[in-house]
Parts: sequence; structure tokens; C-alpha cells
Amino acid sequence: MSTPTTRLLTVEGAADTRTHVPLLERYRQRLPFAPGDPLVTLQEGSTPLLRAPVLSELVGATVRLKLEGANPTGSFKDRGMTCAVSAAVREGAKAVICASTGNTAASAAAYAARAGITCAVIVPEGRIAQGKMAQTLVHGARVIELKGNFDRALELVRELTGAHPIVLVNSVNEFRIEGQKTAAFEIHEALEGSLEALCIPVGNAGNITSYWRGFRELGAAPRLWGFQAEGAAPLVLGKIVEQPETVASAIRIGNPVRWEDAMAAATDSRGSIRPVSDQEILAAFRLLASKEGMFCEPASAASVAGLLKYGADAAEQVVCVLTGRGLKDPETAIANNDGRVIPCAAEIGAIEEAVLGDP
Ligand SMILES: *Cc1c(COP(=O)(O)O)cnc(C)c1O
Repeated sequence: MSTPTTRLLTVEGAADTRTHVPLLERYRQRLPFAPGDPLVTLQEGSTPLLRAPVLSELVGATVRLKLEGANPTGSFKDRGMTCAVSAAVREGAKAVICASTGNTAASAAAYAARAGITCAVIVPEGRIAQGKMAQTLVHGARVIELKGNFDRALELVRELTGAHPIVLVNSVNEFRIEGQKTAAFEIHEALEGSLEALCIPVGNAGNITSYWRGFRELGAAPRLWGFQAEGAAPLVLGKIVEQPETVASAIRIGNPVRWEDAMAAATDSRGSIRPVSDQEILAAFRLLASKEGMFCEPASAASVAGLLKYGADAAEQVVCVLTGRGLKDPETAIANNDGRVIPCAAEIGAIEEAVLGDP
């Protein structure tokens, strides 16, 4: 294999205010990178902020959706991964590793492929959504399926990276948090500082930590409303959940690594971390797809489920973070919708009945 740096881009000198550039260049002056550093990018960030008219009407506030599924691998993890993998290459690393419920694996695999380095991922046995597994495999990562849950997988990779020269790219990695804070910058800029409340799903709690850091750096202080699935709600319960369970696999985590940071983000922003049930998550998931035209993954819908459940509490400008794209998890989508497939003979009469008849 050629040495990775010979084929890599490098960080440009000037910060760039255009939106069609890698976030590491757009926000270089707020990120721990210098001109000439290696840049591993798939042109992440600068995602859309979409008005949600139906949700706005339902909660009596102006609600927008931050479409993080528009990132290159289909989730916000790319914001952190461009920074984590660029920094790993800068340090001369030849391999990265993560434990993952799916999206971190897909993102790490893609950025490692781009950098020309090796990637290994540890996933909990049989619990990875199909799209995420497809991505991870096709990018050429070594996929290790652990007979255990995510929390155990993370404990083991932390131990492994303590003993071997492999860079851990879970959200314990500070570069992940640094990269992900740029989503807060984008929202703050787009709304010219008028954001009052941010709704966000919480799993390992890296993302809520990142947003709070991003807003604080700009002197902004919207309320952060984090939502966990009822069956995987350690931050709500104040104790580790040994067997986390939820349909929203991306937030099926019982012992978040950013526990204290997340609690501080909720408290300091006068926000909260509250539970939503799987039923509420799936109802929001279907509403987003069928009424707003937005197909996100179930974990992402937890942000909207929470807003619908607890209300906007007099906030007028609200953003819900849709963390990942619906195509990531086709099984859950097919099992949870109000549609059906109508079989039809290849004749005009049958087609007429199928198309125009009573549903
Ligand atoms: C990773 C992830 C989350 C949870 O983010 P944390 O930083 O672990 O709290 C939520 N939704 C999706 C789609 C994710 O991939």
C-alpha cells in the first residue's frame, strides 16, 4: 500500500465561508487543525435545515429539521469522523477502530478507505441495521461481531487500544466532538442566532455534548432537549441500563461514555433529557415520512417524538436534529408503515381496480 499521505488532500490556509467545502475548511479556525495538515474528507457538513410545516402547526412553533442524513455516509457521524481520521493520519496511524451500533462503523469504514488506512469495527451480534452493515462491508472494514452488547464492545476496544497502536474513533475521541460541534455553528448561522430549543436523540451522548460545545463557543445558549428511548434511558434513570432495548438501534446504549458532559449540557442550557417510548418514536417516524416527506432512521425520530410528547414550552424557534437517513434501516421501515403492496394481474381491468378502487 502506498503511504496514505501521498494521496491525501491537505488543509488550506484560509478558513472558507462557502458552504460547498469540507467542514474542516469551512470552520478551520474553530477546529484543531493547521494549514498543511492532512485532510480526509468526503465533503461532509453544510447539511440542509428544512422547515417542517406540519410539525410546526402541531406544536405551535416554527420547527425546522437539521438533515444530518444528507452527510456522505448518511449520518452526522461524518462530521466527527473527518476530524478523527484526519488527526489519526496526522499522527501517522495506520489503523482505526470503533465499537458501533452501526453508523460510527459505516462512517469510520468510509473515511479509512478514503485515507488508505485499515479499519476494524466491533458490532453487537445480530443488532446492526442492514444498510449500515452493507456500508461497512463494502468499504472494506474488518467487521467483528461480538457476542455481547454495544457497551461491552466499547469496553473491549478501549482496552485493546490501550495496548496497541490503533486509534479509537468512538466519541471518547475528542476530535469526534470537535467535528460534530460544527452542526451547531451551521444552525446558529442559518437562524442568525434565533434558535431557542434543540431536540436531539441521545445514545452515547457525544452529539449533545458536541452541540453544547459548539453553541457555547459562539456565545449562544438554546435549550437542549435530549431524548432517550424508554428501554435505553440511563441518563433519565440516573443509572446504567444493563440490557438496553429499543427499536431505535442507533441509541440502544446503556452506559453512555459522555454521561457527565451530556448531563452538564442539559443542565447548563436549562434543558433536559427525557424518555420517549418505542411507540412514540415509530409514530414520529411515520409522521415525518408521510406528512413531511422526510425519511429518517428510527433513532432520529426520537427528537421529533420528544417534541410532540412534551411540547415546545413557549419556544418559538425549534430545531429537531434528524441524525441519520431512513435507508439505513430498511427492515424497520418495512415493518412499520401504513402502506401495503397490492398484487395485480397483468390486465387493464385489474390495474384499474388496483389503482382506482377503494383502498
Ligand atoms: C450515533 C447516533 C445517535 C446517537 O448519538 P450519540 O452521540 O451517540 O448520542 C443518534 N442517531 C443516529 C442516527 C446515530 O447514528
